[in-house]
Amino acid sequence: MKVAVFTGVGSVEIREEPDPVAGPQQVVIEVAACGICTFERRLFAGDKQWYPVNPGHEASGTVVAVGEAVDGLPGSPQVGDRVTFDLLTRCGTCNQCRRGKSSLCRMRQGRVLSDGTVSFGGFAGKVAIDAKSVYPIGDAPFTHAAMGEPIACCVHSIRQGGLLPRDRVAIIGGGLMGRLHLALARLEGAGPIGVIDVSEQRLAEATAAGADWVATPETALEVGGKQDVVFVTAMAGVDLAVEMADLGGTVVLYSAFDKDLPATVGADKSHREEVAIVGAFSQEPADWRTGSAHIRSGVIADALDALVTAEYPFSQVEDALKLVTSEPTYRVFVEPESE
Ligand SMILES: [Zn+2]
Ligand SMILES: [Zn+2]
Repeated sequence: MKVAVFTGVGSVEIREEPDPVAGPQQVVIEVAACGICTFERRLFAGDKQWYPVNPGHEASGTVVAVGEAVDGLPGSPQVGDRVTFDLLTRCGTCNQCRRGKSSLCRMRQGRVLSDGTVSFGGFAGKVAIDAKSVYPIGDAPFTHAAMGEPIACCVHSIRQGGLLPRDRVAIIGGGLMGRLHLALARLEGAGPIGVIDVSEQRLAEATAAGADWVATPETALEVGGKQDVVFVTAMAGVDLAVEMADLGGTVVLYSAFDKDLPATVGADKSHREEVAIVGAFSQEPADWRTGSAHIRSGVIADALDALVTAEYPFSQVEDALKLVTSEPTYRVFVEPESE
């Protein structure tokens, strides 16, 4: 099979690698599509210098082999199934895993290629992973299924926010994550739902995607008013989110933030108004179950279609990375080659 190895700033090599073999409780998946997320963009741009590495953590594909223990097991994915899959290796043994917070697993994550290069598994023609981490998606498009990971993260975020039907929701940031929050919060029966962004184009696209109101940060409180749940999917806007939270409201810090950025709600506001700030990082298996069900049913298919910016063959992985580092995109996908 072929793998894409990031070897330095702006440099990617396609290499040959032996095919993976399924362990007794594993399946081998031929990867059909893999999305380019912030992690891969930062590696390519040199904002994060960690080379060599074989990244890719948002992927989909088809099961081509199953291990003996899960062959024919009811509920387990079988050869020919189109799937999305969770590439995290949750140990099940550390304190966090034992408490049901395996997104915070302390054991070292990831895999290795034959030469010891760290591999995440998505930018590869095939990957072997535990069958329990694989979720069939029926006839849904592979690009939709490759958004299984970010969708599961947003399902987790909505769960962290304690979102209820009819909740008034504001989403700060109109990029991919903001738009997934919009689609998923709508599915939960929330509304009105507003999107806040500095880009007029992103606001226009959020309106087209069904946002009830849109605003810039300067006008958000005036346009949208007080909110039950505010999701921060941009790298700024924490103070605005706290200001917009109504009595009993929750602010969910979804995106990655600068380590020195404070996130504060006064003690009195926390006590008397029950305004809370919670974090949402990564996802749990329960979030995958929900998210993959939404992909398979097609209930958010229109929302996902609007987020597919471009698709590139594996040989043009550099072009795909240049696109995401040069202009705003929602999701750009590459199509790994198994031969
Ligand atoms: Zn991602
Ligand atoms: Zn663990």
